[in-house]
Amino acid sequence: MLFTETRGNDGQHQPSVPFSAAILNPMASFGGLYSPATLPHLSTEFLQSQLAANYKQLASAILTAFEVDIEASVVKQALDLYDRFDDAQNPVPVVKVDNDLYVSELYHGPTRAFKDMALQPFGVILSALAQQRGEQYLILAATSGDTGPAALETFKNRDNVRVACLYPDGGTSDVQRLQMVTENASNLKVIGIHGSFDDAQNALKQLLSSTAFNNSLKQKGISLSAANSVNFGRIIFQIIYHIHSYLELVRQQVISLGEKVYLNVPCGNFGNALGGYYAWKMGLPVEKIIVASNQNNVLTTLINTGSYDLTNRTLIATTSPAMDILISSNIERILFDMLGAERTRELMESLSTQRSYQLTATELDTLQQYFCADFCTDEEGKAYIKRAFDAGYLMDPHTATCFKAHDSCRQRPLKSIIYSTAEWTKFSPVIDNALTGNTDTHDIDALKSISATAGIQIPEVIQSLFSKPVAQKTVIDKEQIEATILEFLD
Ligand SMILES: *Cc1c(COP(=O)(O)O)cnc(C)c1O
Repeated sequence: MLFTETRGNDGQHQPSVPFSAAILNPMASFGGLYSPATLPHLSTEFLQSQLAANYKQLASAILTAFEVDIEASVVKQALDLYDRFDDAQNPVPVVKVDNDLYVSELYHGPTRAFKDMALQPFGVILSALAQQRGEQYLILAATSGDTGPAALETFKNRDNVRVACLYPDGGTSDVQRLQMVTENASNLKVIGIHGSFDDAQNALKQLLSSTAFNNSLKQKGISLSAANSVNFGRIIFQIIYHIHSYLELVRQQVISLGEKVYLNVPCGNFGNALGGYYAWKMGLPVEKIIVASNQNNVLTTLINTGSYDLTNRTLIATTSPAMDILISSNIERILFDMLGAERTRELMESLSTQRSYQLTATELDTLQQYFCADFCTDEEGKAYIKRAFDAGYLMDPHTATCFKAHDSCRQRPLKSIIYSTAEWTKFSPVIDNALTGNTDTHDIDALKSISATAGIQIPEVIQSLFSKPVAQKTVIDKEQIEATILEFLD
């Protein structure tokens, strides 16, 4: 199955490419992305037959349906990483939290956040492609907290790939920082920046487009690649768990096959929700995708009014930082799928030149057939965390945003699946504050307090971070980033 360009072709790029090329060179003409030209169809018989399959078997069947051009042995090695999740038999548990309300827990992987769902297998595939082609890649990542640990964890000690990961020093939680700076492998470089996440991200964008930097890499025989969430190599693994979660409700006899459900997703760059959209278009019975945001609610406004408008917006730092995003990159693939390349290019160009675009009434109507949206403030989120905890469920602030959207968007008495994207251990000070009123400044105090309040253990992978030696000690000014990376590559 081929991938095509969301903004049309400029005569320089390949107009359509196989899966492997879309992974290695994710950027298409006019700054667009590669998106599936067609989607495989999953019949009711297919879904029926997958009821007896485990997670890895389902994943393998979906990759086969997409006709990915990756060797079977590599696919197997990639999917075997789900064996490292808490329960190898069931890497994504789906649990009931209320009447008609189920949570699909996507955070049972090595770094305790949902980025592992896609980055774990993606790391194996990218490294294998690089080895087969005899090429060396540098992956640049800028992180506010969850992508960094997951990218380092998946690429550590993998051949032909090196990772340089920038994070804002003092701008992540203790747990997130420790997950990065205790990673000890010769192909990984973790760099703290004096500055904010925006500074780190801007520095990264400058490097990616710097001719001098690219030439220095070329001299070393190294190509640049990106592991960010626009890479279709990540998106494909985000289709699978939506299908799995649905089948899990059928297995638990909560729904019968064919019954529609709501998919309720805490959104940032929209990779998670896009996976749900593709699953639906491939044949999964879905009533609507509920898009939950925090106070950076550009998507709520887009879906409710058809206007994507950044002119009067600045980024707000919230207690769900992984959703603190104003330019939600994967929306482009939705626009492309609904409106085609010409219109997508027009809208995306308007966003970059006017900082806004406006859908027509008909276009908005199409969007609203699939999506419904609401946003949740930090205070509301804390109240949802407390209420869920009192009813027996512990959740993180990203997951909490979905409860508000559930309350406002659910119009029919159908079952809802909320996607939980982080374990409580990753955002413990906010959760402890919601549960006990404490205002901890250190994660370890919050972890201990929640552990005592909830009567649960701090998982060993988190606890052990606090006594691991720090292997990555570099903290520098922005101006030193380029030199530091080049030095690391020698
Ligand atoms: C990345 C992330 C999100 C946002 O997911 P997108 O696919 O970018 O929309 C939400 N919650 C957590 C905890 C994350 O790490």
